[in-house]
Amino acid sequence: MVTMSFQLLEILLSNTSDIFKAKRKQLTLKYLEYCAELDQLEKECPHQDLTYKYGGSSGNWDKSDDKYWIDWKCHDCGKSWTTSQDNTWHLTRKVYPQAKQVK
Ligand SMILES: [Zn+2]
Repeated sequence: MVTMSFQLLEILLSNTSDIFKAKRKQLTLKYLEYCAELDQLEKECPHQDLTYKYGGSSGNWDKSDDKYWIDWKCHDCGKSWTTSQDNTWHLTRKVYPQAKQVK
């Protein structure tokens, strides 16, 4: 955790370039901390307010290029993810029976 203030860095560092590098490093460390907290929030969330939407790309000349997927969005924690309609659809619906379809 970074506790040194920007003002203290200005005193300790005489080179302006070093001050910006140090500030960037400080902000980057804060950013990474917040990202880790958001990741943890998404892992702990039971995704109670969950919606899903069917998506697809069909009509391709080569039928093997046709794809069908489901986009998921949790409105509690903000996590979003995509699954295939092929295999994971039934598994995920059992895990999240409260999910609501949006069109
Ligand atoms: Zn969630």
